[in-house]
Amino acid sequence: MKKKLITSALPYVNNIPHLGNLIQVLSADVFARYCRLAGYETLYVCGTDEYGTATETRALEEGITPKELCDRYHAIHTDIYEWFNISFDKWGRTSTPEHTQITQGIFKKLDEAGYINERTIEQLYCESCSRFLADRYVRGICPHCGYDGARGDQCEDCGKLLDPTELKEPKCDTCGKKPVARKTDHLYIDLPAILPKLEAWRKSAAEEGHWANNAVKMTEAWIRDGLRERGITRDLKWGIPVPKEGYENKVFYVWFDAPIGYISITATHTSEWEKWWRNPEEVELFQFVGKDNIPFHTVIFPSSLLGTGEKWTTLHNMSSTEYLNYESGKFSKSMGVGVFGSDARDTGIPADVWRKLDARE
Ligand SMILES: [Zn+2]
Ligand SMILES: [Zn+2]
Repeated sequence: MKKKLITSALPYVNNIPHLGNLIQVLSADVFARYCRLAGYETLYVCGTDEYGTATETRALEEGITPKELCDRYHAIHTDIYEWFNISFDKWGRTSTPEHTQITQGIFKKLDEAGYINERTIEQLYCESCSRFLADRYVRGICPHCGYDGARGDQCEDCGKLLDPTELKEPKCDTCGKKPVARKTDHLYIDLPAILPKLEAWRKSAAEEGHWANNAVKMTEAWIRDGLRERGITRDLKWGIPVPKEGYENKVFYVWFDAPIGYISITATHTSEWEKWWRNPEEVELFQFVGKDNIPFHTVIFPSSLLGTGEKWTTLHNMSSTEYLNYESGKFSKSMGVGVFGSDARDTGIPADVWRKLDARE
């Protein structure tokens, strides 16, 4: 009997979980309870994803450190999942020494194997804030529809994806000053070079593990449209230091380290984490994610692991839920649409009633 290793997508620390997030966690929880009852050796891990621009910027605005911000939100998440009776074996977080060590180790192996490329790019820099601006922290006039206040990654009015350098009259979202273009070096993971390994793995993994239909389709579409190399570093302070000469002032881009959180959170639970994560002969990995997270779990994270050339436990079964709608709109905390974990708790209606309602969706 193979051991069952179960994960649900790591919630971003700044967002209060809503019923759409809870449904993934609940599905994983029900499966974990079943596995334990059926006598399988089971481990269910999850935790908050804490690094990145959004946390650093928010902390700056609130006048506290990113660590303090994460501590505050991690406690809020912990309360909600406890109230919801989720039977995690380990509920952790990504801002730990174990996470730094394992992420840096995976990076070094990828670099040694020749799958890391260096590139010099131009990025917008705010001289008044003394920092490079992440795409979504630049605002300006949309080149497509003329909307004034479009974000550098996407125009909220016409929905088109943007590059911040396309914006007319760009402004720093924090101070309002005009940013300048500056050269900066970044590291990229060479996904096209890893693709043959990924393809050899993917076809048998999807069949043996019975991936959800939407996961198979979305993954095929991603590969058909062509993989490109992907930046894995950022000019930020709140993140994992990049262990490479010339990159001392940079950190890993949060998408690269976040899925490694499943592994590092296990390492904070048991010193024998390798019996789970480096043991494909004896362990089956079940991952529960929302639809928008599928390619990260079927393409990008497996590529990071396969590219190391080492033995890892990789995705067996993918359970990917469709979006949970709230009265015909998508959940959005910023738009005030949806039911959030804290709202559900404050109704006084017991968690089991919400669990049942959520499961029926
Ligand atoms: Zn627009
Ligand atoms: Zn600024």
